[in-house]
Amino acid sequence: MARDQNSYLTSRLRGFGSTIFAEMTALADEKAAINLGQGFPDYDGPSVVLDAAVDAIRSGQNQYPPGPGIADLRLAVAEHQRRFYGLSYEPDGEVLITAGATEALAGAVLGILEAGDEVVLLEPMYDSYQACIALAGAVTRPVTLRPPAYGLDLEALRAAVTPRTRMILLNTPHNPTGAVLEREELQGIADLAVEHDLIVVSDEVYEHLVYDGAQHVSIASLPGMRDRTLVISSGGKTFNTTGWKVGWICGPAKLVAATRAAKQFLTYVSSGPFQPAIAVGLRLPDEYFVGLAADLRRKRDRLTRGLVSAGFETFTPRGTYFVTVDIRPLRSDGDGYAFCRELPDRCGVVGIPNVVFYDRSHEREGRHLVRFAFCKRDEVIDEAVERLMGVAS
Ligand code: PMP
Ligand code: GLN
Repeated sequence: MARDQNSYLTSRLRGFGSTIFAEMTALADEKAAINLGQGFPDYDGPSVVLDAAVDAIRSGQNQYPPGPGIADLRLAVAEHQRRFYGLSYEPDGEVLITAGATEALAGAVLGILEAGDEVVLLEPMYDSYQACIALAGAVTRPVTLRPPAYGLDLEALRAAVTPRTRMILLNTPHNPTGAVLEREELQGIADLAVEHDLIVVSDEVYEHLVYDGAQHVSIASLPGMRDRTLVISSGGKTFNTTGWKVGWICGPAKLVAATRAAKQFLTYVSSGPFQPAIAVGLRLPDEYFVGLAADLRRKRDRLTRGLVSAGFETFTPRGTYFVTVDIRPLRSDGDGYAFCRELPDRCGVVGIPNVVFYDRSHEREGRHLVRFAFCKRDEVIDEAVERLMGVAS
């Protein structure tokens, strides 16, 4: 008898459906709505970076790069980690280039965890985390961050650790909340990791997108942490090249080797001509990184002001390019998913329902929350705000 589509799906992936980003971007395209859902800029990054990719293609760098990534990009990543965080990594063995941060994460989870291991992580959580952990047969133990400040409750974190815990998976600056973990919070996590001999995986893709004097601290830079931490980042957010999918992971050789063992059977390699271009980006002067954050802070303020005047309760982010709102002032039943599905028809704007970033058993925590991206041209933000004003009336 023919199986329906779902019955072919491994039990490990049942319940995950298709990613919210695909669903909401398809909706935006279908309805010709402004896409403040999926996080990608609608403008290009620095032209020297783009030109370097064109040059690489034109000069024939179009075949498989080496498995760990091209040597010059691994060196540029190591230089970047030293320059911004005082962390030193050996480009041979302690830095691995991946197909975006997504593959770095998948490689670490699949390469390190055993079935039944537990992973403590911050909730709401980026959607690939839970799916990768499930593919590894491991178990997710979420610790919820709550608005308005989305601070970390260290007691709750401590309570989530059990004898089966193997890994803490962090994300700072944090998607979708925009929270930036403070040094004290990171120290609390570090203490716990040392006490229980845990591996820390730290997703820092928004490392340069911090505002209002907030400072991004890499947990690997805290005493005793470098040798138990894998730091993940990518060029997508920093150089407005989300489609290039150049990511990396840095850490002690043994953890990087375990990650590489899985990664080699996922993509083997990727993004050949984009790798030298990201190396150019990572070596840009400080003004580039400062300017990127200053520009996004202005966009954050532009969108946040608009969302407040449209009637949403708005939680101002200190990092990332996302802002979360509580929709209940505009929709008393607080159904964020329904709100996002209807929004394109009501006013031609797309957002992401934060509920998808929560564990099934915690859905009520995020049901009424919606995320909008502000990495868009000013006129697009203004138009989106004008349209959202119509929803309030
Ligand atoms: N982690 C977080 C927290 C993200 O928001 C994203 C989205 N870009 C990723 C990882 C994936 O990054 P990449 O596109 O480099 O795979
Ligand atoms: N990281 C981006 C976001 O959170 C896009 C992710 C994706 O498309 N998979 O919107």
